[in-house]
Formats: sequence, structure tokens, C-alpha cells
Amino acid sequence: MKQFRDLLLSEATYKALDKLKFETPTPIQAESIPVALDGRDLIACAQTGSGKTAAYVIPLIEKLLLDEEACGLVLAPTRELAKQISDVVHELTIFTPSISQAVLIGGTDMERQLKALRRGPRIVIATPGRLTDHLRRRSIALDYAKFLVLDEGDRMLDMGFAPQLDVILKYLPKSRQTLLYTATLPANVKQLAAKYLNHPIHISVGPTSQPV
Ligand code: AMP
Repeated sequence: MKQFRDLLLSEATYKALDKLKFETPTPIQAESIPVALDGRDLIACAQTGSGKTAAYVIPLIEKLLLDEEACGLVLAPTRELAKQISDVVHELTIFTPSISQAVLIGGTDMERQLKALRRGPRIVIATPGRLTDHLRRRSIALDYAKFLVLDEGDRMLDMGFAPQLDVILKYLPKSRQTLLYTATLPANVKQLAAKYLNHPIHISVGPTSQPV
């Protein structure tokens, strides 16, 4: 089994992993981290509980440490998932204070979100609805969002977020890296990948259930 040390991460990330007592990468982490660090687009089929969040947050932090003008955008279908992702980002950036974050979700104080945006976050975690609100009021620009993660892609489509994704993707730079995480891979998710990903590497870990 691969160890985190084999993945050649920054010392700050190793310190954060030690603090979390994460010793061995989960299968999705062992497979996706090298691909993401290599700059490739990725479709990863993985369930909640597989360690998928750290599988993309770790390489995202590494990329942002290397490219100081770049930002990362993580889109999630629900507020709850966005908050969980934010917790993982917080834990993994504890020794990299330059990697700040903002969480843009519905049902929470807009003023607080605007304040967080004014500070120039390096990682934005958002639900598609709230992010499109911010884009409309021009409180966020995504010109430097060179890293995009679509988490729970299948659920985002099930929840009817395809039109918002179309809007959001128009604001992102063409030259970017896109990572798509999904529990299942039905035709609509494949179409989403074909539309927004560039020659992705395909990874599948654990059971994937496909509707008949
Ligand atoms: P996730 O699938 O991202 O929701 O993660 C599920 C759980 O696995 C979370 O409670 C994480 O803290 C934990 N976890 C993630 N990666 C590791 C790891 N490499 N070693 C131990 N626990 C982990």
C-alpha cells in the first residue's frame, strides 16, 4: 500500500496529515492524488466515506502552494456537504495559512460571505445556486479559478443544477484543471464530463451503482 510520503507532498500538508492521524491514503486518495498532482483532469467514482474529500483537497492545496495567483473552486450540491468540505479544507490548511477559504451557501449571512470574498480566498466552496447569485451581483470573479472540483456530480445533476453549472463554467478560465467526483456514472454525468473535462483519467474505487 502506498504511503502519503510516497506522494511527495509539502511538509505543511504532511504536518496536517500527522495532526489528523491520517497515515495511509485510502484507495481513492492513492489513485487520485498523483493524477491530480500531474495536472490531469479526472473522473473519480467514489462514495461518501471513501476519503474522497481529502483526495481532491490535498492536491488542490499543493497546486495552490505552487501557483500563488491561482484559486480553486469546489462545487457541492448541498450546504451540508459544502460545510463538511470546508472542515476538511480547514484541517488540511492548518499549517498553510496563506490558503484561505470562503464558503458560499444559501441560508447563511450574505454579508459574512461578501466579507470573506473581499479577503481574496484561495479556495471557494460553493453550492451552484448561491455561487450564481454572487456572480450576478459581481461579488466574485473566477478568472483565476484554475482548479475546479465538482463533488457529487451525479447529485448536482439530480438536484437540477445543470443550468447553474452552465452559467458558472462560462466564468472560469478555459485553461484549468477539472476534477469530477461522483458516486454513480449515468449518461447525464458522462455528458457533463464530456462538456467540461479535457481528456480525463478515469478512476473507480469501491462499488458504483448505475441505474438500469
Ligand atoms: P469522506 O469520504 O471524504 O467524507 O471521508 C470519510 C472519512 O474518512 C472522514 O471522516 C475522514 O476524516 C476520514 N479519512 C479520510 N482520509 C483518511 C485517511 N487517509 N486515513 C484515515 N481516515 C481518513
